[in-house]
Amino acid sequence: MSLLVTGSMALDTITTPHGTREAILGGAASFFSVGASHFTDIRLVGVIGDDFPDEHVAMLRARGIDMEGLERRAGAKTFRWTGRYAGRMDVAETLDTQLNVLGEFKPTLPGSFRETPYAFLANGDPVTQAWVRDQLAADSFVLLDTMNFWIEGSRDALVEAIRTVDGVVMNEDESRALVGRDNLIAEIGRITELGVSTLVVKKGEHGSILMKDGELFALPAYPLASVFDPTGAGDTFASGFMGAVAESGDTSFRGLKRALAYGTVVASFTVEGFGLERLLAIDRAEIDQRLEAFLEFTSWE
Ligand code: AMP
Repeated sequence: MSLLVTGSMALDTITTPHGTREAILGGAASFFSVGASHFTDIRLVGVIGDDFPDEHVAMLRARGIDMEGLERRAGAKTFRWTGRYAGRMDVAETLDTQLNVLGEFKPTLPGSFRETPYAFLANGDPVTQAWVRDQLAADSFVLLDTMNFWIEGSRDALVEAIRTVDGVVMNEDESRALVGRDNLIAEIGRITELGVSTLVVKKGEHGSILMKDGELFALPAYPLASVFDPTGAGDTFASGFMGAVAESGDTSFRGLKRALAYGTVVASFTVEGFGLERLLAIDRAEIDQRLEAFLEFTSWE
């Protein structure tokens, strides 16, 4: 079943201990749509400027991604992000953010997109996230991502947006920024009190934890000895999670546990190359092979 994503389309300049890449394709919506295109039909809602290379649009289209919701603004520039990772590479240091066209992004969904049964509101202004959620059918299953920038700067709007969705995905730092530092299970309880039934908290190399209607499930990360570039790990984690949910139509606790494993595996490919490099080189069979290996890794039977 179709899966809609809205979020940033970017040109990223990234430095890791393995080198630098300038103005490569990035952005939460790009990462998510490529990752989730391994599972189901994707509808992309985003905005770019006239500096955005046509080859990226052609590549996304060639993967079967529906680009009707992509707006190209003449005379304006694409969102640009410059980041650096050092040492353990567990935190991105933002060196520069140029919002450009993303600053006034308030998309109107094409009519054909409104009934999309699954949607991912990638990290962005919570007012825009709520605006998009309102345009989707009431029974769409919607997951929201966020980051410290919005938790600190637009807390009230974020809490309002959280109330309108089915699930939230965030990392440990973000969960602490939202409800205060406590033990993780207590933090999860407090986030769900904001009115969300499903929550995924990512803990980087330590894995992730899922809560649905009070039930908990945890997985480690896929064991990798070396990380090349962590950019997009969060968005592609969400892409494997939502891709598996949209493909199976299973939003039960069991279905979400399986989706958490797919999210873990898809993110593990992303960090093995710069930007989207690795995710574009693999096919679904490789994802499923790694899922098998991961299940072996996590089972004691
Ligand atoms: P992540 O999955 O968290 O590593 O997300 C990486 C992507 O987030 C990069 O490709 C950036 O272009 C994008 N990004 C960075 N800062 C922002 C922001 N403030 N709003 C939206 N997207 C962003």
